[in-house]
Amino acid sequence: MDLDTYIPASVQMMVELVNSYDSRLAEPERLGGVADVEDFFRRHRMLGPNRVGPDDVTSLHALRADIRAVFEAEDEATALNRLNDILSAAGVVPNVVQRADGRRELFFAAGDAPLTNRTACDAGIGLAMMMVDQADRLKVCAGDACRRVFVDQSRNRTRRYCGNSCASRSTVAAYRARKRTSAGG
Ligand SMILES: [Zn+2]
Repeated sequence: MDLDTYIPASVQMMVELVNSYDSRLAEPERLGGVADVEDFFRRHRMLGPNRVGPDDVTSLHALRADIRAVFEAEDEATALNRLNDILSAAGVVPNVVQRADGRRELFFAAGDAPLTNRTACDAGIGLAMMMVDQADRLKVCAGDACRRVFVDQSRNRTRRYCGNSCASRSTVAAYRARKRTSAGG
């Protein structure tokens, strides 16, 4: 793993959002209620002056499905069309915010914009930056029953699994399959 590859915050948020429905888990939904969604927005500095309501949960789930559809598109042209639909629906408005600690941050929607809209703008830009010249780093895990997405930071971009647990499970499965094959002659 090439840890010096920098992943912007918008990309990290985008990946975490897509993986917030994790089919490997007994309870796949990690953003099921208002409290989970509020925590997600707060951790990713999206909350601002807004309060979270049930509509935000519904709209965030819809955004999540739209972003996943980019990862799972059958070809590059479809992926780009889906990405551009997200961006145009979001209506990106870049703005620089002065923080209390003196540092500045670039956001892609106004601080008081509706929460899912802010998230669509920032996650959409994160995805767009990757799609321009690093689309081959955006991957869906090859593990059985795993649909997690990840950014492949390996130098030769050959990573196939979201993490060690999926990689080792698949190694064990391949070993068993080989044993079965050789036992069967
Ligand atoms: Zn996986």
